[in-house]
Amino acid sequence: MIAVVPEPFPDESVRSIFQRIGLLNGGRRSRCDNSQGVLAVLVNQAGLPEKSLITDHSHVGYLRFVSKAHAAVPVHSHSDRFANPSLTRWPTAGPRVCLDCIGEDLHTRGISYYRRAHQLPGVEACLTHAASLVLPSPDQSGALLVGLPEKTRPVDPSFAEHLEHPVIERFVSLSMMALKSIIPIAPSGMTAALGRRAAMHGVRITVSGKGRRLSDWARSVLPAAWVATHFAALHQKPIGEHAPSVDDVFRARHVAHKTASYLLAMALLWDSAEDAMRDCAAAPTHTNCEVPTGAGRRALRAVLDGKSIISACRAEGANMQALEIAMRAALREGSFPTLGSIDGTC
Ligand SMILES: [Zn+2]
Repeated sequence: MIAVVPEPFPDESVRSIFQRIGLLNGGRRSRCDNSQGVLAVLVNQAGLPEKSLITDHSHVGYLRFVSKAHAAVPVHSHSDRFANPSLTRWPTAGPRVCLDCIGEDLHTRGISYYRRAHQLPGVEACLTHAASLVLPSPDQSGALLVGLPEKTRPVDPSFAEHLEHPVIERFVSLSMMALKSIIPIAPSGMTAALGRRAAMHGVRITVSGKGRRLSDWARSVLPAAWVATHFAALHQKPIGEHAPSVDDVFRARHVAHKTASYLLAMALLWDSAEDAMRDCAAAPTHTNCEVPTGAGRRALRAVLDGKSIISACRAEGANMQALEIAMRAALREGSFPTLGSIDGTC
């Protein structure tokens, strides 16, 4: 067992707790061998509570905000929580720090620590101090816990211009909510929730569908510097070209994208971060919430106009399943035409 085990600070990341334990125990790495995994050391050798470490100090909730394999399973119960080292890594190249936070920590606690919220993709400022997050030079990151770093560079030099951008504000709020999420959403449920909202905004959900691309919308409203820093794959795509990292959030129902891609779509498609999270987190995952294709909807229209099911599907290039999905969606949305009264009159 480890001799000196500190109480974790608010929002302190598991890696930070691990490093502080090393410092407090004389820096003897043999006492904190992480070959079994950082989380295993903190639970089995330091005796820290497993559930709190995962929900309050790891990025598992953020990393698995949408997950097929772990959908509906609380993050502290995932079967690979000890064996998967990626769960205790930061989601960005880090560590990122706020110099004001470090200064206050050193003054009040005598030691500083790495916060989870500062390591999230697309988050450039400390929400407490509205100060730029910075990256210490690699040779200095090890000394951060006991002193201010001398050499740093900002995560994004343009951060001040992004602080009050409404879409970025929503993205940051959603990132904080995702960090604290406990129950992963299934890709199918997320795709369905996003697809319904896309239809309201005239955003296309297929590669060749009608409407504007979400990626084009993103680049038309977001500062280019922010996109270049946090969504490099999107930034490199020409306007008007399908950008899988953003546009495919409507299509992939069986594979989860990066969390930041979903959060960007939510920040664009909803006016309120709270509404976006409520609608997406509540999305059922069963198949009757699948998003209908354009061909399926057209085939349904043709059937309602008098064509036979087979000829309507042939004419519109839809299969029977696409027609079924379109029918269920129309019933859900209340967009099905009146079918007539029960006695058969129309
Ligand atoms: Zn701060």
